[in-house]
Amino acid sequence: MALKITDACINCDVCEPECPNDAISQGVEIYEIDPSRCTECVGHYETSQCTEVCPVECIILDSNYPETHEQKMAKFIYLQTGKNN
Ligand code: SF4
Ligand code: SF4
Repeated sequence: MALKITDACINCDVCEPECPNDAISQGVEIYEIDPSRCTECVGHYETSQCTEVCPVECIILDSNYPETHEQKMAKFIYLQTGKNN
């Protein structure tokens, strides 16, 4: 499941450089997560790096993008190699 940033975001810029998949960017008003690039950090880390650093805990699971662990790992491989295994 991808994560999303709620409107409680204070634009502190801390999460963007922590994402190993370059999934986080500044949006029109607040930071945003590209669900096609968010693996919940599967493949890189044991925990979601953005949620670890967010000072206001405004990064939550996005139920619009349910995924199994295998699907997240497949997304990780695709992002790394540009290929589906
Ligand atoms: S959970 Fe990981 S991959 Fe997803 S946006 Fe946060 S840092 Fe990036
Ligand atoms: S760390 Fe949290 S408050 Fe800071 S920019 Fe990211 S989502 Fe927004």
